[in-house]
Amino acid sequence: MTKIKYQPVIGLEIHVELNTKAKMFCHCLASHFQAKPNQNVCPVCLGLPGAMPYPNKLALYKTLVIARLLNCQINPASSFERKHYFYPDLPKGYQLTQYIKPLGYNGYLQIEDIKYPIRRVHQEEDTAKLKHQIVNGQKLSLVDFNRSGVPLVEIVTEPAFSSARQAVVFLKTLQKLLRFHQVSDCDMEKGSMRLEANVSVKKASDAKLPDYKVELKNINSFKFTAEAIDYEIKRQIKLLEKSKAIPQQTRGYDPKLKRTFPQRQKEEAHDYKYLLEPDIPPIHLPKSWLEETKNLTPANQLLQEWINKGWPESVVKILFTHFDHLSWWRKLEEQIIKKQIDRKKLGHFLLKNKSRYYLKPASQLVQDFLAGQHVVDDSKLLTQTIDQIIKDNPQAVEDFLAGKQQALYFLLGRLRYKIGNVDAPKVIKMIKDRLTKLKTSSNSLT
Ligand code: ADP
Ligand code: MG
Ligand code: ZN
Repeated sequence: MTKIKYQPVIGLEIHVELNTKAKMFCHCLASHFQAKPNQNVCPVCLGLPGAMPYPNKLALYKTLVIARLLNCQINPASSFERKHYFYPDLPKGYQLTQYIKPLGYNGYLQIEDIKYPIRRVHQEEDTAKLKHQIVNGQKLSLVDFNRSGVPLVEIVTEPAFSSARQAVVFLKTLQKLLRFHQVSDCDMEKGSMRLEANVSVKKASDAKLPDYKVELKNINSFKFTAEAIDYEIKRQIKLLEKSKAIPQQTRGYDPKLKRTFPQRQKEEAHDYKYLLEPDIPPIHLPKSWLEETKNLTPANQLLQEWINKGWPESVVKILFTHFDHLSWWRKLEEQIIKKQIDRKKLGHFLLKNKSRYYLKPASQLVQDFLAGQHVVDDSKLLTQTIDQIIKDNPQAVEDFLAGKQQALYFLLGRLRYKIGNVDAPKVIKMIKDRLTKLKTSSNSLT
């Protein structure tokens, strides 16, 4: 009997917290990593009765940017719905989200020659955070509302991945892209990027998707995501080989035991009873926003453009990490062209001195670079200065005479400090000749 071939099916749901200053529906500060518990709260994000939510414009704009970067169709008119469920981290009893009309839909992210399809990109709000602690010997669950109402974007892919490796390459690319465009920090450890991987397995010959999926939740690194998916694929194949049904489930991952474990049976979508939020009028994205975001250059394309101009790849990839840096690079490029500077040499000089020059006035960088490039070659000046440093550094001279070649480099350093850049091999030879002469003349004296 031939063995049945199985094919994994993986779909991703990614939540990213936007890096806006304010929360999604109130003016409270959104940053919650260093705040004291329940410091940034108000009636809106505490879900007190009668509080009125008002959407954060910048958050909507950044969500539009994400949708554009992922090549989505855009819903210029959309709305917010209440997604009902009960949990202590959700004081209102519902989360505001875009269910009916996501801001973006039917997009894709291209990696090399594969276009991974994106089902939707929508705006929602984060929940509060629970802390399970022992206080005065009592086991308690504490609620910190600082995170409640932080702008969140959910990105849902189609079940289009067939291996853990593929899924992780996608996630890493997405993280880079969103960081580059400064919409989110995408920090997995801090939780500003959170992943759910849905995994099922089908017979390779089946055209249809399996009628179940297992959702892997609360995994906070790419490495563990890959491990969890791989484990899950093996587990499911084993069950299928025994002709056992696989229940629809949410599972967590234990990195120590390197295996997934059941958390709960999944709610069906209709349990949430989505209802239109009556306190937020319909959202209409301004025409100007739609225009502005139409031709966003994705990060990889932009980096390639710069590499094609002749910048060293390592320099571009290490330094050019945010879209906002673009105007700085453009200014530098102007000077490079005007002064006919070698981009390779300047690039490495910049990388070596990045804290001094990167994103600082480009003219200073260019000036210092050119000064460094200029080689002092006046032989009279060189001879005079060499005599001077020999006089000023008797210890180094003694070291050289005792056979320590290192001393030459010390003297070269002193010389450079005095008169600037010089042709090192040539000057080393000059110093050596001078010292050798000194030696023979002092020998002849004794
Ligand atoms: P739900 O309504 O339960 O949220 P969706 O159909 O909206 O389910 O899909 C949620 C996520 O699960 C998406 O990322 C999607 O790609 C993925 N998914 C859907 N069906 C499967 C499947 N059979 N196997 C793996 N992932 C799947
Ligand atoms: Mg889900
Ligand atoms: Zn608030």
